[in-house]
Amino acid sequence: MRTCTEVVSAEGDGHLERLTLRDNASGETETVDTQWLFIFIGAAPRTGWLDGVLTRDERGFVLAGPDLVVDGRRPPGWSLGLDPYHLETSVPGVFVAGDARAESVKRVASAVGEGAMAIALVHRYLEKR
Ligand SMILES: Cc1cc2nc3c(=O)[nH]c(=O)nc-3n(C[C@H](O)[C@H](O)[C@H](O)COP(=O)(O)OP(=O)(O)OC[C@H]3O[C@@H](n4cnc5c(N)ncnc54)[C@H](O)[C@@H]3O)c2cc1C
Repeated sequence: MRTCTEVVSAEGDGHLERLTLRDNASGETETVDTQWLFIFIGAAPRTGWLDGVLTRDERGFVLAGPDLVVDGRRPPGWSLGLDPYHLETSVPGVFVAGDARAESVKRVASAVGEGAMAIALVHRYLEKR
């Protein structure tokens, strides 16, 4: 596994045989024989526009539900007498699902499931709060 590495070119005859890789730290390039390439690009949440609106963690993922309750204290400005629902953000009635949520699993199936859960929680919020 190589970090900070850029694929410069891929070559082969009908299938992958060689890669030329650039180490982005040193700038050096190297050609390696391989038949496989797996790319892990990581993730950065695009939540800057929520700054000052919703509580986020230090990496920008949106906090929700139990992650907002610290030492039994609800988030600042929380106006309700109940803890936030599982996917509810620091603003009552605003929910988050999927990769943008802090502590989410970062997988397709869980993102879809959280989306469905969020809708159920919106209905509960509208009925009970
Ligand atoms: C390289 C890679 C490989 C992966 N492989 C797998 C895998 O094999 N199996 C697996 O289960 N998961 C995999 N994942 C993770 C999976 O893609 C995510 O968990 C899933 O897509 C999360 O869904 P989401 O709806 O939460 O977010 P996203 O799919 O990221 O959708 C968010 C959408 O919101 C849009 N958006 C962002 N900001 C705004 C805005 N301000 N206004 C309007 N729209 C906006 C974005 O353009 C995007 O379309 C992989 C991810 C990556 C990056």
